[in-house]
Amino acid sequence: MPFIEQVSVKKSPLHGKGIFSNLLIPADTLILVIKGEYIDGAECERRENEEDNVYIFWNGEDSYIDTNNSDKIKFINHDCKPNCYVDNDDEDNLCLYAIRDIIEDEELTIDYGYDEIYENCNCSSCSNQ
Ligand SMILES: [Zn+2]
Repeated sequence: MPFIEQVSVKKSPLHGKGIFSNLLIPADTLILVIKGEYIDGAECERRENEEDNVYIFWNGEDSYIDTNNSDKIKFINHDCKPNCYVDNDDEDNLCLYAIRDIIEDEELTIDYGYDEIYENCNCSSCSNQ
């Protein structure tokens, strides 16, 4: 079977660009490994405050991954009822997984998980209530 990229980046109805499925992605599928520059909490805070970098993922304890130079994962949008989650695999790589079956051309989302995001959230789950 030819290898098909599971996701591509397109313009999103939620915000800016987003990541969309190219095919049906079954629940619990590993969608991609989150790669970037490994930094600590202090450097994460500095980049967020001084560089407005919003593309940093928490990698457990005092480890963070700056995905600013990534081609896909940096574009994932927030949803309060997301269809994806982030977790470490057996080899401690930070990865994106499907929570449930994701149909072709559906936007992939995660719960960003910080308090400020919920205050004025206009994700599809909040605005459809
Ligand atoms: Zn929301």
